[in-house]
Amino acid sequence: MAIETNEPAAKEKSLNFLEEIVKEAADRGVAIQTRFPPEPNGYLHIGHAKSICINFGLAQKYGGKCNLRFDDTNPAKEDTEFVEAIKNDIHWLGFDWTGGLYYASDYYDKCYEIAEDWIRRGLAYVDELNKEQMREYRGTLTKPGKNSPWRDRPAEESLDLFRRMRAGEFAEGQYTLRAKIDMASPNIVMRDPTMYRILYKEHWRTGKKWCIYPMYDFAHPIGDALEGISHSLCSLEYEIHRPLYDWVVEHSQSMLPARPRQIEFARLNMTRTVMSKRKLRALVMGGYVKGWDDPRMPTLSGLRRRGCTAAAIRDFVSRIGLSKADSTVDTALLDACIRDDLGEKAARVMAVLHPLKVVLTNWDADKTLTLTVENHPKHPEMGSHTVTFGRELYIEQEDFMEVPAKKFQRMYPGFEVRLNGAYIVKCEGCKKDENGNVTEVYCTVDMDSLSGSEGADRKIKGKTLHWVSAADAVPFEARLYDPLLADDSALEDETEPIAEDAVDAEETEEAEEADANLSRADYDFLKKLNQHSLTVVRGVIEPYAKECAPGTALQFLRTGYFCKDPDSTAELPVFNRTVGLRDAFAKAAK
Ligand code: ATP
Ligand code: MG
Repeated sequence: MAIETNEPAAKEKSLNFLEEIVKEAADRGVAIQTRFPPEPNGYLHIGHAKSICINFGLAQKYGGKCNLRFDDTNPAKEDTEFVEAIKNDIHWLGFDWTGGLYYASDYYDKCYEIAEDWIRRGLAYVDELNKEQMREYRGTLTKPGKNSPWRDRPAEESLDLFRRMRAGEFAEGQYTLRAKIDMASPNIVMRDPTMYRILYKEHWRTGKKWCIYPMYDFAHPIGDALEGISHSLCSLEYEIHRPLYDWVVEHSQSMLPARPRQIEFARLNMTRTVMSKRKLRALVMGGYVKGWDDPRMPTLSGLRRRGCTAAAIRDFVSRIGLSKADSTVDTALLDACIRDDLGEKAARVMAVLHPLKVVLTNWDADKTLTLTVENHPKHPEMGSHTVTFGRELYIEQEDFMEVPAKKFQRMYPGFEVRLNGAYIVKCEGCKKDENGNVTEVYCTVDMDSLSGSEGADRKIKGKTLHWVSAADAVPFEARLYDPLLADDSALEDETEPIAEDAVDAEETEEAEEADANLSRADYDFLKKLNQHSLTVVRGVIEPYAKECAPGTALQFLRTGYFCKDPDSTAELPVFNRTVGLRDAFAKAAK
């Protein structure tokens, strides 16, 4: 599958630092091989899309291959639901794992073999320090660590203990296997990192075969090398792990076919939303959203349901570029990419979100007219559809004012407006209920002004309004979305502290606790949720909207882009607002 870019300037842009490295390697004849390594513990989000476009995109561009590798080294949390969803999302984005589909758990045997080899060569040892002791021995950023008393135990003793760890003779936390590197290293990651911990957890792929599991920092470079990865591209938080990555590859080189190189790039963060899977999971589990594919979520499934296209996401990733400095991208940029894409693709229809009835007093009650409207003003090949015009119709409440505000050029008594694709009408008055609310508006039609006819070019000051005739109005539900977060203050430190994970075997348990206990400081963002992120309204729409399939994108004239939701029924179509029409980003840029 080829990746298309909507950006005409893409080819002329100078290459980013990553692409320069890959291109230089390809020019030297290196077979480019990348991988995308998601942990199957949640759905992919738009941050992952950046990584996907980079990994799959660069391989594609330089004649290489990209693997999909599920990083299932943590047995506790993975789920086949997530595996399937991730595969589906990658395909949807327009990519395919041309290099193959793998699992980190495929390499458990190889990892074990390398671990034994290291023990024999004095490069690893079985430690007996408990969690607190390990922390104490580790030192701090300013203070070197000190050697564990078990660090220099004979290799045979470590080997025996390691085999018994594997055989299930010990309790969780009683022993760990650690690489023997340097407790005085200025990089804490290098202070004898844990390579294996005991975990009595069944793995969804390897079942009960193992009760010891390799740490990510150990399994990941081994997986990369076994798959012949040339460039292991990852986000910036792995930078301090690179020396360990290189150490692992270096010391197992005789057992591995390739020597991959790790290169980091900045993670994508966006305004007014959270990005980490942990936080997204908290939203799903806590019932703050309807699921992983809730259209408010920054997940690919949520964005898709909202009506965002794969092309818009690829365009977005290409527009934000690639750098080594973390930054937060304005959500409005994604909206602009969506508008650019849907502007060309979405059929135009008329829908009224807040209906106000209009009666055309000089139009016979039993007279209707069938009007043909183009689906797209610039693309005749997209065909046309029909709408009915009759005596009663609906316009937006906000398009009428009994007493017009200054500069108001829509419907008000004595003023003329055009009904889109139909006639010029003049407002003659309105009816109100006992509370003073306008319930009906009365207009007369200029019978000579039908769009497309000779009288159609009569110039008027009034605007052109969208409308739906009462004769064929279909009631529908519109779901209007606003950002998840009320403000951006929850965005500090979105990156999970993975550095800890490498040096502390117990960290995964802590992470689980954190997930279970949402009151922790990590979850402060829940207090900042926008209470108005979803507004549901009942409107009326043309029959065209009834026929189209869920997933269809439409432009509601003057209102925005909408996408038909799978919740739609024959009686009640449901539409998600994908994005409004107004390009706030372009305005801000000016
Ligand atoms: P999260 O913090 O959301 O759970 P993660 O890094 O733990 O993200 P993984 O499943 O391990 O999620 O990610 C797979 C790949 O996607 C990794 O290589 C990671 O670097 C990359 N990735 C994750 N989030 C982002 C992001 N926001 N921007 C760019 N790349 C990302
Ligand atoms: Mg991760």
